[in-house]
Parts: sequence; structure tokens; C-alpha cells
Amino acid sequence: MPKVPPLPDLVRLIGLALPPVLGWIDETVAAHADAAVPVLDVPGAGAAARARFPDDLLAAARVVPVDRVPLPPLSRLGFPPGLPHLDAFEGMAADGVTYGDTFFVRRARADDPALFIHELVHVVQWRTLGREGFLVAYALGLLEHGYRASPLEAMAFEIGERLARGELQGDVAGEVAGRCRAALGRGDPAAFGGA
Ligand SMILES: [Zn+2]
Repeated sequence: MPKVPPLPDLVRLIGLALPPVLGWIDETVAAHADAAVPVLDVPGAGAAARARFPDDLLAAARVVPVDRVPLPPLSRLGFPPGLPHLDAFEGMAADGVTYGDTFFVRRARADDPALFIHELVHVVQWRTLGREGFLVAYALGLLEHGYRASPLEAMAFEIGERLARGELQGDVAGEVAGRCRAALGRGDPAAFGGA
């Protein structure tokens, strides 16, 4: 496994890659706008979301069912080769990915409530941290911990799994926003990578 570069180098290279990554994300979302469906129009998964997320978020959130979930080609967008976890991320056949209020899901799981809740957790993370804040935290977590254990993914997987077990209660959006703000407030590098 390649070594994680020192934090100042990591922050610098993520900062340099941010504009091209944001540009790629905006182009990708725009290119799929015609196929984007309001989440509340998806029967089972929409109902699971309705009870747990606020109306304004659900009114804005869109889902795009696709054969292959589009992930940013990080090595073409400014991330140098040889970083840990980068190749695995780029080659991953993901079930879903969230860009702002729009998420993409693999068609075979397009009505899976646990996947919807997972992606809606990311929508709340994007809204709480802001575009740049989300991407910096996500990239740090990915490079330090890998996809599944990165802090923002671990939070989304945990909450999706609680739904699948019938154990997800209360105001999920409030919980997610609170956990993001708490990590920021502590200045806790371990929470978003960068330890
Ligand atoms: Zn995720």
C-alpha cells in the first residue's frame, strides 16, 4: 500500500484538484438532468425517505438510475498516481454516488430503501459541509482510510444498515447534520481524515 503523503501536501493537492472535480460533477449532473426523478416519485424507497428527511430536502433531491454509476476520474482531474486507495476507488462498481442534491444508483438497486437512505445521508452531508467542504473531507477520508471506512461513507453505511434492521428512528437529517457539525467543531482530524 502506498503511503499517505503528509497532511499539508495532501491538502494542497486536493485544493488544486477541486475546481476540475467540481466542473466534472456539474457536467455529469447536467448531462443526466432529463433522466433525474424526484425521490418522492419512487414508491417504496420514497416512502422510507419521507418519514425521515425534511420536506424541502426531499422536494429538491433527485435520483438517476444508471447501468454504471459515474465516479470522477480522479487521476485525470489532478490527483497524481501512486496515492493510496485511488485505483480501487476509480475502478469500483459502486451501487450509488451523490453529487449535491442528485444521486445516481445502479438500476438493479433503484428502489432499495437502504441505498436511498444511504445516498440521502450524503445529500445532508453536502448541504451541511458545503460543496468544497464535502469534497475535501471526502477526499481526505478516502485517501487515508479507503472507500468503505472513510468517515463520511462509514456514517452513510451505518445509517443505511440501521434502516435495513428496522432500527432507524427519528430525525435522520438532524442527526447527520449534528454529527458533521460536531466533527467540524471539535476540529477533529480523525473524524474527516487527516489524522
Ligand atoms: Zn456512500
